[in-house]
Amino acid sequence: MKKIGVLALQGAVREHMDQIESVGCEAVVVKEANDLIGINGLILPGGESTTIRKLLDRFHLLEPIQRLAKQGLPMFGTCAGLILLAGEIVGYESPHLGVMNVVVQRNSFGRQVDSFECELTISKLEKTVPAVFIRAPHIISVGEDVEVLATYQERIVLARDRHFLGCSFHPELTKDTTILQYFVDMIDEYSK
Ligand code: GLN
Repeated sequence: MKKIGVLALQGAVREHMDQIESVGCEAVVVKEANDLIGINGLILPGGESTTIRKLLDRFHLLEPIQRLAKQGLPMFGTCAGLILLAGEIVGYESPHLGVMNVVVQRNSFGRQVDSFECELTISKLEKTVPAVFIRAPHIISVGEDVEVLATYQERIVLARDRHFLGCSFHPELTKDTTILQYFVDMIDEYSK
């Protein structure tokens, strides 16, 4: 059975764990470097990217995760998780993990009160999925070879760069498992 780790320092952890189990994989709580051993993929959840970054430093997880990213471990960042993966964050001198070839802007859809739900069409998967945005970032530009999978109001909200998948919204807060399943398929692709 595939093991998918969920970075569990802050944020929407339980919801990801439940969804992972609902698609038939084992969910692993990641709180320290030892928890990364033996996982086949890693999810970086939503929350507050600045807080998660501080905790990554405190629990000595930044470098081990960067190392695994460079070795090809598939990683999926949702909302704050996307910000953690991004190679560049608008207005910041340096990124957090900095492994995914995208530039992100934080809080680009307004404030907490402006959280909203919409339907997104993912043409590549021939599907429409419900998407919950909570003080969401968006991707303002992508590097060469990065695949844009969905946009909302002409802003990039879902993209894939090699073994990295990132989205602005929270797929774990809905019952739709399309995007998680896409990540599970990426894990299969990379473990061959
Ligand atoms: N606004 C948050 C940040 O910048 C992300 C919000 C979320 O993950 N729902 O980190």
